[in-house]
Amino acid sequence: MPFAFDILVAIDERSLARVAINQALLRVVNEAIEPRRGHELIVFRCEGGQLGCNQMIELTRAEYAAVRAQPRRFAVVPDHEVSEIETTVQRHDRYALVEIHEQIAATVAERTDPKRRRAA
Ligand SMILES: [Zn+2]
Repeated sequence: MPFAFDILVAIDERSLARVAINQALLRVVNEAIEPRRGHELIVFRCEGGQLGCNQMIELTRAEYAAVRAQPRRFAVVPDHEVSEIETTVQRHDRYALVEIHEQIAATVAERTDPKRRRAA
């Protein structure tokens, strides 16, 4: 039944894209966060992209800069990885670092990279 299969693929792609767009929005939110004076750890939103997640993670400025150095990488609450689109690269106590491997989500992540938009 190729027709039914096509619909399933389309629904799946749409939900993957939704997660990816959500991640891109969270990245914009996190980029705008200013560290509080005297606090080494900065509080960011989990960038997992799952609808309804409003949990926070704490990273140092250097840790966050390392995440942002690669357009396909996001920082999430440990266990908030979406395995369909991303692979866990590192696991820390405070956060997990994921890298997008799925093509649609990777395209969204790269095209919405704030560094790329600033350069353009
Ligand atoms: Zn989350």
